[in-house]
Amino acid sequence: MRGCPVKRDVGRTTRDLRRHNRSSVLSKLYLHGPASRFDLMHATGLSSATVSNVVTGLVADGLVAEAGLLDSDGGRPRTLLEVRPGYARVAGVDIGETHVQVGLFDWTLDTLATATYPMDARHPEPAVLAGLVTAGIEEVTAKAGVDPVRLLGVGVGVPGAVLPDGQVHAPTLGWSGVPFAALLRPRIAAPLHMDNCARTLGQAEMWRGAGRGAERAIVALLAVGVGAAVATGSPSGVTSTTSEWGHTIVQAGGAACRCGSYGCLEAYVGAEAILRHYEDTPGAAALTATGVEEQIAELVVAAARPGPAADTVRRSAEYLGIGIANLINLLSPDRVILSGWLSMSLGPVMLPAVHDAMRRHSLDYMAAGTRLELGRLGQDAVALGAATLPVHELLTAG
Ligand SMILES: [Zn+2]
Repeated sequence: MRGCPVKRDVGRTTRDLRRHNRSSVLSKLYLHGPASRFDLMHATGLSSATVSNVVTGLVADGLVAEAGLLDSDGGRPRTLLEVRPGYARVAGVDIGETHVQVGLFDWTLDTLATATYPMDARHPEPAVLAGLVTAGIEEVTAKAGVDPVRLLGVGVGVPGAVLPDGQVHAPTLGWSGVPFAALLRPRIAAPLHMDNCARTLGQAEMWRGAGRGAERAIVALLAVGVGAAVATGSPSGVTSTTSEWGHTIVQAGGAACRCGSYGCLEAYVGAEAILRHYEDTPGAAALTATGVEEQIAELVVAAARPGPAADTVRRSAEYLGIGIANLINLLSPDRVILSGWLSMSLGPVMLPAVHDAMRRHSLDYMAAGTRLELGRLGQDAVALGAATLPVHELLTAG
């Protein structure tokens, strides 16, 4: 069975080239559309004939539609093209440290339905979490009247590292080498994708949030745990890497961290660390709310007046500023985005102090070009980030 290797290689090369061209045009329309065929030609470097062919195929497949006419100076008006939101639907799952949230989105990431389940145990059993994920997918698809089998894919963001074989290391959940993908796959009809939640959140902020147009953005995920993704905008999409930023040391011999070390950033700016510090402050009134998110909301209200709550917020802002300054001196980003539920809750009151600390602790010429902003994706941010995983696969495959 020797076949004809030359012919086969030519076939594969043509197919690869066609896929690459489709991926270029589709990614451009998805990330920066609407655009005319003329714009696409300039943005992708493809010939007019190739762009026309690719667009005809994308329209026939239902991915792209015409979106009106654009006047061009003196010449014929140009037809604008855009991606069709109704082409596909995706689910995104946020495995948080206090809850599981599932979102159903169209493939342009507009929210169609959400479901949230509180997590009772500090260190939940993987099978129990898998059950919540399946229940969430059933709930959101039923709410939106979508057949779960027809989803483009399900993306899952976990607060830890995902190895290529799907095993998860998540110290915050008490998981070491948990085969979570293998546990979920038989329960989910659509293709399953899994990645670290800071990384997927970074991708979402770059595509649809505060990272749009940035060259190199650092997207910080502030919650009970603290993580960051370094996202680089590139014409073909976004590539990002995650760092264990929360466990970099900001105070030698400092506060005990749940990782076993002392003086980690997370031990000063993680939600539970902030609450613990407030409770240890002399004169602090006891918080009446139950639940970490509710207690942080209560702290934010109390911080409007001078006193232990305001002092706690100021101290956390100082350490967060130090953590950001270290990233600026290392990586020189043009934008730093604070995302995740804790940023949404605490960000508005602490942002000026964080900015001040960031400038004091970084080199002037490194920080001069860096903008500090709050994320723009709201409370569904992490679920939305997870939903970018199947979409990314589609854009790459064309
Ligand atoms: Zn640590």
